[in-house]
Amino acid sequence: MSSEEDKIYAKKVQSYMIHKCSSGSVNSCLDSNGRCTKNFTNNMIRNTTTFDERGFPQYKRSTEKSLNVVPHNKKILMSWDGHANVEFAGSTFLVLYLYKVAFTILLTHLLIIAF
Ligand SMILES: [Zn+2]
Repeated sequence: MSSEEDKIYAKKVQSYMIHKCSSGSVNSCLDSNGRCTKNFTNNMIRNTTTFDERGFPQYKRSTEKSLNVVPHNKKILMSWDGHANVEFAGSTFLVLYLYKVAFTILLTHLLIIAF
């Protein structure tokens, strides 16, 4: 990547991919204890990506500035002009999560049809 592309990438990350914890709004992420429900308050500097006991990724965070960067794919962000959250999904909990999402969508559509 050229230095010009690096500048564009850095600007896109700064514009679209920085999580800012907030409370009291519709998009609030802080719980009653002030902890981020999206787990950004638990981020710490790490030199490698690891997985926790539930199989969720603990992404590499090499600097203090990177603690609030939303996980993303550089190539997708460079070809997209907006927020593009991309995360690893590959644990046994993925099946449960997909079932929950599919069931929620199905239930939502059934409720819409019922009305
Ligand atoms: Zn937050």
